[in-house]
Amino acid sequence: MKIVMLGAPGAGKGTQAKMIAEKYGIPHVSTGDIFRANIKNKTELGAEAKKYMDQGLLVPDELTVRILLDRVAKDDCGRGYVLDGFPRTIPQAEVLEEALGKQGEKIDYAIDVEVPDENIIRRMGGRRACVSCGATYHIEHIPSKKEGICDSCGEKLVLRDDDKPETVKSRLDVYHAQTQPLIDFYSARGVLKTVDGTRDSKDVFAAIVNILG
Ligand code: ADP
Ligand code: AMP
Repeated sequence: MKIVMLGAPGAGKGTQAKMIAEKYGIPHVSTGDIFRANIKNKTELGAEAKKYMDQGLLVPDELTVRILLDRVAKDDCGRGYVLDGFPRTIPQAEVLEEALGKQGEKIDYAIDVEVPDENIIRRMGGRRACVSCGATYHIEHIPSKKEGICDSCGEKLVLRDDDKPETVKSRLDVYHAQTQPLIDFYSARGVLKTVDGTRDSKDVFAAIVNILG
């Protein structure tokens, strides 16, 4: 089962993708997480990606596509995967479609998690991410057991640099201009499913399970 998560930054794609990965036994592949791991490990790729991420801009397609195709070629992706944060542009979706097509494969579901911009701005300020494992929480809606500490690995939780309000605004502009057209792209292929992302995360997940079976 190959799934793409669509939705604005902060819509809850990562939160849902983790639950899908666990329930269906497929890897959660997040290009944002791959870039952040590279930044943390001070790789050349990380330094390049950071220049764009800090401004709320997209990392160039060429670089992003290479990283993603390498990742999904790994053995653990043989039974499928859930993509979170990729594709984010039509050219990225086209490259993925072409690469899958060569193997007689395709994306089975594109799940659009719908949340209006006003809710997003409120949500992002409350997001906290683990500096070590990347787990995500929300100070009100999905709190960690101990404030400021990751439930999974015990490391520190921080507000991501790109979750500061001025950067969130640019990220939303980029989303509307470059990523939202993917809704029509996947709708035209008959695989688009829409869920109401303003509901409690458990209810959103129940709606997704209803779709995936
Ligand atoms: P994305 O991966 O789309 O950028 P996240 O999954 O990281 O979004 O969610 C953004 C923030 O909103 C996080 O702090 C997360 O804990 C919180 N969140 C996720 N789903 C919900 C929900 N259904 N209701 C309220 N807050 C949510
Ligand atoms: P995310 O964790 O998905 O919110 O991504 C954080 C940042 O990483 C984005 O704002 C982009 O700068 C960059 N990024 C992640 N995925 C992509 C992608 N598919 N294409 C371009 N940039 C990306």
